[in-house]
Amino acid sequence: MKRLCVFCGSSSGKDPIHVEAGRQVGAALAKRGISVVYGGASIGVMGAVADGAMQAGGEVIGIIPKAITEFEVAHDHLTELHVVDTMHERKAMMADLSDAFIALPGGIGTMEELFEVWTWGQLGYHNKPFGLLDVAGYWTLLEDFLDAMVEKGFLRPMHRAMVFNETSLDVLLERFESYCPPSRDKWVDARGL
Ligand code: AMP
Repeated sequence: MKRLCVFCGSSSGKDPIHVEAGRQVGAALAKRGISVVYGGASIGVMGAVADGAMQAGGEVIGIIPKAITEFEVAHDHLTELHVVDTMHERKAMMADLSDAFIALPGGIGTMEELFEVWTWGQLGYHNKPFGLLDVAGYWTLLEDFLDAMVEKGFLRPMHRAMVFNETSLDVLLERFESYCPPSRDKWVDARGL
């Protein structure tokens, strides 16, 4: 894997563990020689991931829409910062440049990015792996909700299984190596289409 996209909060969260986790993930990726692709902000968990990777000598590629460069305080010390016109361009570039995606704790922007990658994977638009990196149990409630979606028949078990959830970055990256995307044909058959 050459480049990993990290989705995470533009906020820091109340518990300092989140910013610290962001910094550690950035540093760990740099040490593995994996470039970080992310949203280009200098604030919150996003800034911590970028700082951790840059300080450990890694490569960080940030992509940020022009309209929010001030709002999210574009990072001024990255390997590359791409200022794009729209959020759609940002997300497309992040997706194109990356071999896989992880979500650290974050808000609705983080969720939106994760769910877009997931829904596009479900439709077979890409075959890239993705997962949640849990910090302090942040994703537990989401996991429960996803299980409820399966139970109530709105999410197929094979699509539920696409999203990994690990507390260890090493384990998550190992699982990415053996990721086997679900067959689109199977999905179509299962829906009787
Ligand atoms: P948040 O998780 O809400 O703190 O946001 C994390 C990142 O997601 C920030 O860089 C936001 O600009 C970005 N973001 C917010 N809304 C969206 C969206 N609709 N699509 C993609 N990214 C978004």
